[in-house]
Amino acid sequence: MIPQNNPLANYLALKDEIDDALQEVLANGWYILGKETEAFEREFADFVGARYAVGVANGTEAICLALKAFRIGYGDRVLTVSHTAVATIAAIEMCGAVPVFVDIDPATHNLDPGLLAEGVTENTKAVVPVHLYGRPADLGPLLDFARRHRLVVIEDCAQAHGAMYEGRRVGSWGDGGAFSFYPTKNLGALGDGGAVTTSNPKIYGRLLALRQYGWNEKRISCTPGFNSRLDELQAAVLRVKLRHLEANNRKRIQWAGRYTDHLKSLPVKLPLEIAGGRTHVYHQYVLQCGDKPTRDDLMGFLGTKGIRCAIHYPVPVHLQPFYVERFGKCDPLPATESACERILSLPMFPELNPEDIDTICTRIHEFFGAPDQRHAS
Ligand SMILES: *Cc1c(COP(=O)(O)O)cnc(C)c1O
Repeated sequence: MIPQNNPLANYLALKDEIDDALQEVLANGWYILGKETEAFEREFADFVGARYAVGVANGTEAICLALKAFRIGYGDRVLTVSHTAVATIAAIEMCGAVPVFVDIDPATHNLDPGLLAEGVTENTKAVVPVHLYGRPADLGPLLDFARRHRLVVIEDCAQAHGAMYEGRRVGSWGDGGAFSFYPTKNLGALGDGGAVTTSNPKIYGRLLALRQYGWNEKRISCTPGFNSRLDELQAAVLRVKLRHLEANNRKRIQWAGRYTDHLKSLPVKLPLEIAGGRTHVYHQYVLQCGDKPTRDDLMGFLGTKGIRCAIHYPVPVHLQPFYVERFGKCDPLPATESACERILSLPMFPELNPEDIDTICTRIHEFFGAPDQRHAS
């Protein structure tokens, strides 16, 4: 069986280093917001290229606290996509704001900045672009638009740790960057975790207060706050894994290239190639099927061969039961709605090997009744 994702393999690959780091925290006796978290925050901020990083409890709260730090809340409208993890939308609603959906560019699956203008009203305060699947969103035109309309930009980087846009990492472009360290992400903890990056000292101060009861340095609450902290065990694991993130992203990019080489002759749409100072870090390798055979046919076939795929995401957020009553009648999102029926995420994690990719591709060729030229002997 080839799984779609494999956090256990990622732990085992670094077992000795991780076990040592965990032992040290266990013996140290300080378990929440201590020296591991501080060190991780410094290392992660340096990695991203932002002045500050603030460890929080998960990626959803990272987005919510980032918006709150910019005083975005009740009555404010926040532009984002419906083709994303529900978490993006849940986070916007958690801070009291109203998500407004912008359609995606079907070629990249990311927010189409050309459509932002249609969603703007006087109550629009922010944009949350998602770097979906590990591909940086089209930040140039998006940031121009945001500047012209005085909108705060919080990048949802939950799937794109290490991805570059014009030579600089995502999370360093917007007013803030929100990261998740859910175990299956490119940088994953052994539990929940998240972080907000920013280069704005005032926002940094507000984030520190927001994540812990609204406390100031004297542990006196001066603003409303939450409990959204990163714990020392997770921070210690993340410090180890951060040292291997670039090597692991290179593996993902290598597997993606191998998939593309094998599959380019087939009647499926493969991820658009990326160039010019941008890197796609392939949190997912997502292909698109045509009308017939369908995506479900291909996924079912691969399932019978022991190859697990996934769909990210099968139903756009605005059409999910909880949201459809409120957002089902929003302007149509044709690219979002059509992508959902065609997309398929193939197995993708650093610990795959070339033989796995070849096996998967041979099966996909078999499904389409075409020999795999790369391996025809
Ligand atoms: C995983 C994810 C989140 C949320 O992260 P959690 O840590 O699960 O709260 C937000 N946005 C996107 C795009 C994600 O993939």
